[in-house]
Amino acid sequence: MRLGLFGGTFNPVHNGHVRMAVEAREALGLDRVEFVLAARPPHKAAVGILPFEVRWRLLSLALCGLEGLTPSLFEQQLDGPSYTVRTLEAFRERLPGAELWFVCGTTDLVSMDKWMRGRDIPGLAHLAVLPRPGADVEAARGFVAAFWPEAAAEGGDVWRLPGGGLIRLLDAPLLDISATMVRGRLQQGRSLACLVPQRVEETLRTLPRRVLQNWLGR
Ligand code: ATP
Repeated sequence: MRLGLFGGTFNPVHNGHVRMAVEAREALGLDRVEFVLAARPPHKAAVGILPFEVRWRLLSLALCGLEGLTPSLFEQQLDGPSYTVRTLEAFRERLPGAELWFVCGTTDLVSMDKWMRGRDIPGLAHLAVLPRPGADVEAARGFVAAFWPEAAAEGGDVWRLPGGGLIRLLDAPLLDISATMVRGRLQQGRSLACLVPQRVEETLRTLPRRVLQNWLGR
């Protein structure tokens, strides 16, 4: 089985996430892409994050009916902060025969030097990187060369590590959507049409005032 693991806080999930997972699944011929919801994100401030159950509900609504895209509660079962290396190690134990691909945007790739054991990631799962405004393809190539100098370039933006792990920069349309942008629009009382799936917008609009206040600070 070829499995994509798309990790994120999904605070909230938006169309950038959904489209990028579709692109990765098609480009890599993945059986499915699991959206692994960060239970205790170590890189984000604890304030300003929707409760896990709400992010889970939104993720489930966003992916409903989309072939090969599924939400995953995997990180909820792990103890401690949601570090990607730990999650990938646990996935390998759980699914020893699977070919795992960790999917992320270029902006996350170029910050991996700050992640816990970030260098180990492509040794645990192949790394598929999608373009995202904020870190262009040149920055991504430069980062790969500097952070994994032992990786051999195979051409076509593919690198192979001595242990066999692959790093691939995928070609996909740039979508300048972020959860920060979605939260900002919501705060300003503006429409979220085409930024998030319709059912996600509907649910966000019916959240109790108390939840919205904790999340958006208003
Ligand atoms: P925030 O704005 O709150 O930081 P975010 O939009 O970056 O949130 P995350 O849940 O942190 O969302 O992102 C999960 C993964 O999705 C990351 O690998 C990120 O790079 C990727 N991603 C998010 N939005 C896009 C996008 N528009 N295009 C490509 N990749 C994206």
